[in-house]
Amino acid sequence: MSLTFLAVHAHPDDEASSTGGVFRLYKNQGVRTVLVTCTNGEYGDAPGGIKPLDPHHDPEAVVAVRTEELARSAEILGIDRVVRLGYRDSGMMRWPQNSDPKAFWSTPIDEAAERVAAIMRDERPQVVMTYNEFGFYGHPDHIQAHRVTVRALELVDYEPTLYFNAIPDSVMAMMRERFENEAREMRAADIAQGLEPEPEGEPDMTPEEEIRMGTPDALVSATIDVRSVTDAKYDALAAHASQTDGSFWLRMSREEFAEAMGTEWFVRATNPLGLTGTVGDLFAGYRTDPF
Ligand SMILES: [Zn+2]
Repeated sequence: MSLTFLAVHAHPDDEASSTGGVFRLYKNQGVRTVLVTCTNGEYGDAPGGIKPLDPHHDPEAVVAVRTEELARSAEILGIDRVVRLGYRDSGMMRWPQNSDPKAFWSTPIDEAAERVAAIMRDERPQVVMTYNEFGFYGHPDHIQAHRVTVRALELVDYEPTLYFNAIPDSVMAMMRERFENEAREMRAADIAQGLEPEPEGEPDMTPEEEIRMGTPDALVSATIDVRSVTDAKYDALAAHASQTDGSFWLRMSREEFAEAMGTEWFVRATNPLGLTGTVGDLFAGYRTDPF
């Protein structure tokens, strides 16, 4: 049986950060891989690190750069087909951009779902991946990607296995400690050099939102070892230079990156094959030949 993996992501770069490993891993195993990217990513950083609310931020210039970056990332990950739905980035929750009629957040769910369903009818993926109802971290475009994908599954005549990406609470706690240590070290280094330390700034998320990003370890139902392909994942993230240049992850050595990013976790949201327990393969139950 030919196997197909379909991921529905919100922005260019999400394919690399949360599924870069599984995309490359499954491609290496001969699985057909398809990426749907819902938005153009207008409200990412502009080249030179210009933030989206800066008056010099030009959303259209950002799209031009990010479209190229997505193509390069997809090439590195060996993605067979990329479909850009072309909706406008909605910005972060509560930004006025949320209500732009072209914004993904303002798009009727059925309209976008029908487009995703058409791709599913065409590709018939056994495994579909998107985010949970919280959009993994509360971004409106990620929440909308969830709603659209769940609705699309109701519009097709078969039931694939749907997975949501996840970070186990135990890993989240380790990552938080690492982030905090690094921030502390950077402040200490600034002070040692006689520089004014960077102000800590407003946190992006409320503590409740941050807690919701994690998944209780016991609820994680797929743990995928992607250590064999972390170089491709690193390169795909680096291909999104306008968003990831100098990022926490890319400042790591490749060895550290492999250690930190060598596992991808998922929660099974539909279970047509009646799988139980935690699997090590998103295609568990679908394989007829050993690989
Ligand atoms: Zn995103």
